[in-house]
Amino acid sequence: MLIVPEAAVADLITPEASFDAVEAVFAAMAKGEAYNFPVVREAIGYADALYGFKSGFDRAGLHLGLKSGGYWPGNAAKGLTNHQSTVFLFDPDTGRPTAVVGGNLLTALRTAAASSVSIKHLARPDAKILGMIGAGHQSAFQMRAAVRQRAFEKVVGWNYHPEMLSRLQETADELGLPFEAVEPAQLGAEADVIIAITSSPAASLLDAHVRPGTHLACMGTDTKGKQEVDPKILARASVFTDEVAQSVTIGEAQHAVAQGLIAEGDIVEIGRVINGDHPGRTSAEEITLFDGTGVGLQDLAVAAAVVERAAAEGKAIDVEF
Ligand code: NAD
Repeated sequence: MLIVPEAAVADLITPEASFDAVEAVFAAMAKGEAYNFPVVREAIGYADALYGFKSGFDRAGLHLGLKSGGYWPGNAAKGLTNHQSTVFLFDPDTGRPTAVVGGNLLTALRTAAASSVSIKHLARPDAKILGMIGAGHQSAFQMRAAVRQRAFEKVVGWNYHPEMLSRLQETADELGLPFEAVEPAQLGAEADVIIAITSSPAASLLDAHVRPGTHLACMGTDTKGKQEVDPKILARASVFTDEVAQSVTIGEAQHAVAQGLIAEGDIVEIGRVINGDHPGRTSAEEITLFDGTGVGLQDLAVAAAVVERAAAEGKAIDVEF
């Protein structure tokens, strides 16, 4: 069995490799070749922690395994990351464990890859202004991945906690793009592509803020009760997702579906667009919205890419198990 510790992961995967792995697994999901098992997420009644598993099997890529982890709010005080993830891979022919991989950086890379895949397939080709809602840990990864897909000329950003906006400024500086902090109304009026990546419990972006032709990637809502955008936007938009079952239960679409504004059948798996089985965006005025809920198969795909490279470069720890 191979072990790839968290500290080794950064040198073993690029954003491009994450993108390719995530795009391929979304395509396999839409062909019925890969499927996720039901998510387990529990408050364990200790250390205020949320703990759970995301797992699945990709018959096309032959990836079987799970991501285990969760959220420990007291970790920051101990100098540790609050979100903790570890990926376990198994041989689909025998069930024997093949690898254990640190999953913290991989979570950020695969989440950024997902919105980046949505921008590639759904945003207007002439998109120039990127809007960022959220300035937490994930936001920098999101911005870096997004700018690979379109010739963005400027980033506008808003965050509920304005003191965190420096992260967006610094990331835009690193990418050589001008950054402007704006209110949500101006963000919606200017941005061609909007990424929302917050843990907000209520909509920050209202229906009146969003103009025709916008592509939205709603990435923060991954649990019942979280919400980033006005459900009325979903009623106006063509709605895409990684997995419909998660979108309607724990994703951004949970609210629009509960309010009867859209039905489960209105939501399209982005893999169908990747596979050429759905046209995706059909006009410059259409609003497209990607509900990125985060599936276990994304984690397995990027972890498998890391293990393959670690094995090839002799950088994994090999143990008898
Ligand atoms: P973080 O704790 O570093 O940042 C949290 C962000 O949410 C900040 O921008 C903060 O200002 C904002 N926020 C907090 N409370 C808010 C409120 N009441 N109203 C509006 N905004 C508020 O978190 P992070 O690691 O950047 O993750 C952001 C979100 O993305 C989380 O909800 C996380 O669960 C989710 N996430 C989703 C996926 C996925 O695959 N879809 C993957 C990883 C993380």
